[in-house]
Amino acid sequence: MPGFLPFASALELPAYVCDNCGFWQRHFAEPPSCPVCLDARHVPPQHAWRFRSDVEAEADFPCLWDEIEPGIWRFWNDPVAGIGPSGYLLTTPDGNMLFEGCTVFSAAALDHMAACGGVQVLSASHPHSYGAIWQVQERFDPDLALPAADLAWSAAFRVSWPYDDRLEPLPGLELHRTAGHFDGHAVLYDRARGILFCGDALKFELDPADPRRALTISTHKAFVRAIPLTPAELRRYREVFAGLDFGQTWTPFEQAANSGRAEALALIDTMLAGRPHAGPVRLDRLRR
Ligand SMILES: [Zn+2]
Ligand SMILES: [Zn+2]
Repeated sequence: MPGFLPFASALELPAYVCDNCGFWQRHFAEPPSCPVCLDARHVPPQHAWRFRSDVEAEADFPCLWDEIEPGIWRFWNDPVAGIGPSGYLLTTPDGNMLFEGCTVFSAAALDHMAACGGVQVLSASHPHSYGAIWQVQERFDPDLALPAADLAWSAAFRVSWPYDDRLEPLPGLELHRTAGHFDGHAVLYDRARGILFCGDALKFELDPADPRRALTISTHKAFVRAIPLTPAELRRYREVFAGLDFGQTWTPFEQAANSGRAEALALIDTMLAGRPHAGPVRLDRLRR
């Protein structure tokens, strides 16, 4: 029912961002703790909690943006506390989609999105890279698509388009739930550009001389604790990746132009042939 929002005023609590991980919560006062930090896929702060309001975060974490591939804009913060994910604005003839969020968007960054045609669809792979997508929802009121399996983490914004395993919210942009890292972990496949926005399903180490070139690839249940995925979780990743024809793989932190489906499948097959691990594997060894 469009416009049906019986408790709209209760959604207007102030938002606070965790210094240790970048997760936003709405709370009547500074939150007592951060659920993402206490979760086994992350680590708590070493000494104390620290939270910032949106005004403080905007002042402390300048927002930058750049067109990485034609029609794809990356938004990030530098300097930034926490894990510092990037948000990606994908412009298409049928509308624009923002996938993932940087820690905080500035008014100028949101104005830039408006100049690109605004945001019609908003989504993210999982809670570690939600960033401040709530700001984009407030500014543009787009459809917000998220796997129902991760609804419990989405309290800082309002999911308007929950989905199960697959959704194509704009022509040529496919969301696929992979589960694994989080039960609702999802990837975004851009069919026309052949890019997979893989969330934390894959991780790369980059060539210091060329930030678009990955040297290693890995996959994990929990990166900071180096917890591997199970064989069943790896098989599900494989099933999703095998159906998508991608030559580039972008995480919330890296935009690898030299690693696509072949490398992702080779990594998973290596894991499934032995005991799964979370360590980096050199791409030149996989390709042998
Ligand atoms: Zn946190
Ligand atoms: Zn993650």
